[in-house]
Amino acid sequence: MSHQAFAELTGPAAATFDEVLRRNPGEPEFHQAAHEVLESLGAVLARRPELADAALLERLVEPERQLMFRVPWTDDSGRVRVNRGFRVEFNGALGPYKGGLRFHPSVNLSVVKFLGFEQIFKNALTGLGIGGGKGGSDFDPKGRSDAEVMRFCQSFMTELYRHLGEHTDVPAGDIGVGGREIGYLFGQYRRITNRYEAGVLTGKGLGWGGSQVRTEATGYGCVYFLAEMLRVRGDDLMDRKAVVSGSGNVSVFAIEKARELGARVVAASDSAGYIVDDKGIDLNLLKEIKLDRRGRIAEYADRVPHARYVDGGSVWEVPCDVALPCATQNELDGAAAAHLVKHGLMAVAEGANMPCTPEAVHVFQAAGVPFAPGKAANAGGVATSALEMAQNAARTSWSFADTDARLGAIMRDIHATCLATAAEHDREGDYVLGANVAGFLRVAEAMTAFGVV
Ligand code: NAP
Repeated sequence: MSHQAFAELTGPAAATFDEVLRRNPGEPEFHQAAHEVLESLGAVLARRPELADAALLERLVEPERQLMFRVPWTDDSGRVRVNRGFRVEFNGALGPYKGGLRFHPSVNLSVVKFLGFEQIFKNALTGLGIGGGKGGSDFDPKGRSDAEVMRFCQSFMTELYRHLGEHTDVPAGDIGVGGREIGYLFGQYRRITNRYEAGVLTGKGLGWGGSQVRTEATGYGCVYFLAEMLRVRGDDLMDRKAVVSGSGNVSVFAIEKARELGARVVAASDSAGYIVDDKGIDLNLLKEIKLDRRGRIAEYADRVPHARYVDGGSVWEVPCDVALPCATQNELDGAAAAHLVKHGLMAVAEGANMPCTPEAVHVFQAAGVPFAPGKAANAGGVATSALEMAQNAARTSWSFADTDARLGAIMRDIHATCLATAAEHDREGDYVLGANVAGFLRVAEAMTAFGVV
């Protein structure tokens, strides 16, 4: 994305953004994420000039630490492979750096920085003590054997471990990193350090320090947020037609919760295409194909005669009442948004990080469709990771019902915070502004208290 594509900023936000562009060339995703936040902060800085004077914005857009490292490993045929590893420790004002690891061929410094930047505000919004960070690798786990994934994870952790710690930096999963990978990473960390430091990674298995609800948390939390957006407008999910993009961790549990609350989820996707099942997706079958067997979503239509598979294309061609983009960044553009709005869309909640382009967000907001940005709507995952850390620290574990109740309360709280903050800034119902400003203020107060560090 070029500089020209961005809406004009004014005052300190404009100067900061110029510096972001100058200092971080060739990082379009990071530019996009930084621009969105800076656009929201103009109103705050007008009221709180002391924050601009203390160079809070300039400090916020510069990561505290950026790590890049070589990850050599051997494949099953004995060939040596080399990937690149990343960890960006963006902001630790509120607690240990916290954010997932992504293993996908598209991962580069720009992607990791956009995700790490978003994570600062998301983590602040949860109200818990966690800073923002993110990491990953351009390693592609697709088609790799368990032994190859294990050797990769061991090599990755052999460098990363020295930067981690339960009070320093606590990674979790993201695209391509689930329970299997967290197990291999934790195993190698324990072996190298000779410490059973459960709080150093989250998303662990239930038998070895994991938390109930962590697997479900991002998807469930996103639907809790969506339900709350509808509730304050006197509506609910009963009999609503929903479309969820992706069919990974976030998508599957968003589908599960949306169905529980009465919605009919008619379409889902993967990186190859999408399926439509007008009777409502058979979730057990989807879980078997995508989560258990790591297969392709096309198989769903082979097994369900009334369903259809569309190779390529975009799942956002399917009209719906509520849209839950849960796959990846920039998957839903302005044209797709206009198509959905034209067909009666009621609300959007982002399960993925930045799945809607700025043009798409503009279309939703201009049409008065409530839009929940990922940093608010998908914060349930990291919030439950922080609950996992709390249980690890206390050497205890809570029940599913208890943890789920806490997740629900956190999501309702974030929703209320976004709404109240938007209203205070005369932007009633603007969840983007509410999330950015509320997250920013919490981080800014801590940074101010710490002085220039
Ligand atoms: P995941 O389990 O690996 O699933 C990702 C899904 O998205 C898969 O269905 C994948 O299709 C699809 N996908 C990935 N890249 C794609 C691309 N370039 N184009 C089209 N489809 C693509 O990952 P996840 O944990 O669910 O994460 C999904 C999103 O949620 C990401 O944006 C992530 O940052 C965000 N998120 C995750 C969490 C969490 O707790 N996991 C928390 C907050 C936010 P294939 O099966 O074909 O690869």
